Amino acid sequence: MANPDKVTMFQQNTVGIIGGMSWESSAVYYRLINQYVAQHLGGSHSADILLHSLDFAPVGQWQHEQNWDALTQHLIHSAQKLEQAGATAIAIATNTMHKVAPDVQNAINIPLLHIAGATAAACHEQHAGTVALLGTRFTMEAPFYRTILEEAGLTVLTPELPQRKAIHQIIYEELCQGVIRDESRQVYQSIIAQLQQQGAQAIILGCTEIGLLIKPADTDVILLDTTQIHARQIASHLLRLSR
Ligand code: GLU
Repeated sequence: MANPDKVTMFQQNTVGIIGGMSWESSAVYYRLINQYVAQHLGGSHSADILLHSLDFAPVGQWQHEQNWDALTQHLIHSAQKLEQAGATAIAIATNTMHKVAPDVQNAINIPLLHIAGATAAACHEQHAGTVALLGTRFTMEAPFYRTILEEAGLTVLTPELPQRKAIHQIIYEELCQGVIRDESRQVYQSIIAQLQQQGAQAIILGCTEIGLLIKPADTDVILLDTTQIHARQIASHLLRLSR
């Protein structure tokens, strides 16, 4: 039996994660956050988190009906429950739903760990001034995400409409349902190559499921996987690190 006297005590913060969008990527977050905490604290330490995993079916339907009011209320309700349960920060474990992040932040008294802010910092760490943003059509086409990157001084490229449609369809009909196909990887690889030719110095995988399909070995351009970036940001908050 392990001797409890030998355990290094560390009082972690508690992050409330709103996940399930989709659960395929929440599972990756869960593993990564625990790995970061274990690497930092050693031994059998693991992450102190609250996970509210939502049913993705109504979320996806409201998104496509453009019912952002219902989505806002849904996420505010979740964030408030997590705050009441003791969270010291909230993380929305998807890029797309950051469309309602300002309203969620206004409805709680703890910080929201914003995925796009952490992604902008990661672009600068890689010295990439011109980046391409891949994600759902909501993320690629609405200003809520791009503006944060541009305000951080980045030039943001996005694919043309037919490519945006293909990327979006693969996310919802395949990746969010755990389907990984070589043909879809080739579609993404060809779009990434075009964006690289247009001057992208790094590609933001701005949907938390794209990393399930595209790995660093699939391209020679720098990939910025927002699931990894956000998981690290969450772990830093848990560990009370500045970044
Ligand atoms: N997880 C995806 C993202 O990061 C898409 C699914 C969703 O709409 O939440 O945007």
